Amino acid sequence: KIKQIAIYGKGGIGKSTTTSNISAALSTAGYKVMQFGCDPKSDSTNTLRSGKYIPTVLDTLREKNAVKASEVIFEGFNGIYCVEAGGPAPGVGCAGRGIITAVQLFKQQKAFEELDLDFVIYDVLGDVVCGGFAVPVREGIAEHVFTVSSADFMAVYAANNLFKGIQKYSNAGGALLGGVIANSINAPYAREIIDDFVSITKTQVVEYVPRSVTVTQSELQGKTTIEAAPDSKQAEVYRSLANKIANHTESKVPAPLEVKDLREWAAKWGDYLLAMETGEVGVETASNI
Ligand code: ADP
Ligand code: SF4
Ligand code: MG
Repeated sequence: KIKQIAIYGKGGIGKSTTTSNISAALSTAGYKVMQFGCDPKSDSTNTLRSGKYIPTVLDTLREKNAVKASEVIFEGFNGIYCVEAGGPAPGVGCAGRGIITAVQLFKQQKAFEELDLDFVIYDVLGDVVCGGFAVPVREGIAEHVFTVSSADFMAVYAANNLFKGIQKYSNAGGALLGGVIANSINAPYAREIIDDFVSITKTQVVEYVPRSVTVTQSELQGKTTIEAAPDSKQAEVYRSLANKIANHTESKVPAPLEVKDLREWAAKWGDYLLAMETGEVGVETASNI
């Protein structure tokens, strides 16, 4: 059976980087993987393809009426199938609608089954809170959702909004939450903040991914870290993350915070960090606030 996973997160938080490394790690572990970019930026699969862009499903559909799934699937690193849904022309049409159209094209042609895939991983922009971007959650496209978040408030805010969407559709067969992929976690307080957030919202951190120059170097070569630096510590982190996702079975309904409570929660951490800076409290007491 194909395992379908959606990875959400705020723009620029590291979704595509993380997703591509997960795909690369799963693929080198022997799984058959498709990475399905659902961000209108259409750059999800770049590091699986030497930094090159591929034609998107929606662009191809605009050019001709009958499109075969095989025309919009491109082979990437280690045989990974790469797809970019694409997006509407800026200011025109609905990005969510576009995702449905792209996925339907594949479903109608039974493309997922024909390729005998183990995993389809959707890389989805999470800033927008409209019904459009909830599509992979709402339409039963994915079974498990993970979100990439740093300890920054805007990233946590976007994650909390995603949790609200998941909660809303959970009674109607929507995808449930597997957990948070904590990205760019270097400072001890960043880990404490994200730990506190997942504990309040009744979810879990799947993996702590440090911010690493190895990722930057790999990206500049147009590659994932798994490909460019397979022996690095960072590649080991991505392999561990991919392994956890591969073995993940039980997702849950999260408990998002109301906006007011989220702001209060953030303010509390703000006060704490300020106190830490002025030396009033030590790092080790962070979990006691
Ligand atoms: P998104 O897909 O969420 O918009 P990207 O994956 O494109 O974000 O990442 C944005 C930038 O951040 C990229 O230049 C990427 O290399 C960098 N980045 C993401 N995660 C890390 C990390 N753990 N260490 C170093 N750089 C990172
Ligand atoms: Fe964009 Fe959402 Fe509006 Fe669709 S519903 S056009 S995805 S904001
Ligand atoms: Mg991206």
